[in-house]
Amino acid sequence: MTRSFTFPGLTTRVIFGAGTLARTGEEVERLGHRRALVLSTPGQRAAAEALAAQLGGLAAGVFAGAAMHTPVEVTEAALAAFRDSGATCVVALGGGSTTGLGKAIATRTGADQVAIPTTYAGSEMTDILGETAGGQKTTRRDPSIRPETVIYDVDLTLSLPAGLTVCSALNAIAHAVEALYAPDRNPVIELMCRDALAVFATALPAVVRALRDRDARGEVLYAAWLSATALGHASMALHHKLAHVLGGSFGTPHAETHAILLPHAVGFNAAAAAAELAPVAAAFGARPGAGLWDFARACGAPLRLADLGLGPEDLDRAAGIAVASPYANPRPFTREDIRALLQAAWEGRRPQS
Ligand code: NAD
Repeated sequence: MTRSFTFPGLTTRVIFGAGTLARTGEEVERLGHRRALVLSTPGQRAAAEALAAQLGGLAAGVFAGAAMHTPVEVTEAALAAFRDSGATCVVALGGGSTTGLGKAIATRTGADQVAIPTTYAGSEMTDILGETAGGQKTTRRDPSIRPETVIYDVDLTLSLPAGLTVCSALNAIAHAVEALYAPDRNPVIELMCRDALAVFATALPAVVRALRDRDARGEVLYAAWLSATALGHASMALHHKLAHVLGGSFGTPHAETHAILLPHAVGFNAAAAAAELAPVAAAFGARPGAGLWDFARACGAPLRLADLGLGPEDLDRAAGIAVASPYANPRPFTREDIRALLQAAWEGRRPQS
């Protein structure tokens, strides 16, 4: 059968390596800006201030209030700081929470973004923004949301604690897995996903053995970039929907939720998308859900939704929310299917497929 696909092209400029943080100033200037506001979470304020000092006159200040799921109140405070500072560009130094704040400012002001990710969450390569207002999370895609430039510096990931390292990497693996069976996938993204999964399978255990192994960290960050690109160019399915429901409606932590759900979503889809999931089987084991569960366990990942504070009644409600709006998935599902999948993830059972 003749191949049929649309390749939209890759637009984001990517600087990848060790010590690349030093190139932030030249990248801000390359975009034509003289003043950039540096963003971070409260926990990464010191790193943001050090970056502002490095930027010298290019730095318009630091806003260190980024928070998980991009609350609009935080965005409003950051917008005031952005306007008062005279900045025309944002530099987001941190994980998905900080990248999200940069996107929220950019889509409202037209500012350019330089994203400097310090986790493997992948938001930096996407045109997706999830925001929370009044306890409700809404997600949208728009070209104005995608950062212009991304600087990956492996040195910034050496400080990632073991737990966040593993969960964030499994979050990235989830992007590559679901892009493989996305209806809008294309051959370039498939190649990127294949390499991402193979690299994660060997490099993540090496990082777990030695968290400050720069070479292994570099491989994991490279795989995370590939996965992030897949997330930014293909639609996600059941796994991401469930993670979104649990994070958005029950406040479960992003990376841990992804880490726990992934083997179960893959096991559920394994038979319906056996050909598409072949790279997952090659990297993690013939039964891809079980293989990913074994891999997650060997890396020390959390395995039970029960440990995130969810109760059985939450699973009932989550199953209802998950089936309320239809979306593409290789295997059709009912509310009962989702409830059973969540039960297995809640108990931490090893998937069979
Ligand atoms: P995060 O950005 O909330 O970071 C978690 C914590 O780790 C923070 O306290 C942060 O300061 C700290 N941290 C980050 N990097 C560190 C490092 N190198 N060393 C030490 N501490 C570090 O978590 P995340 O998992 O990166 O991002 C989750 C958020 O991103 C969620 O809100 C999620 O919805 C969003 N997200 C969005 C997209 C998208 O495409 N829109 C994609 C992925 C994630």
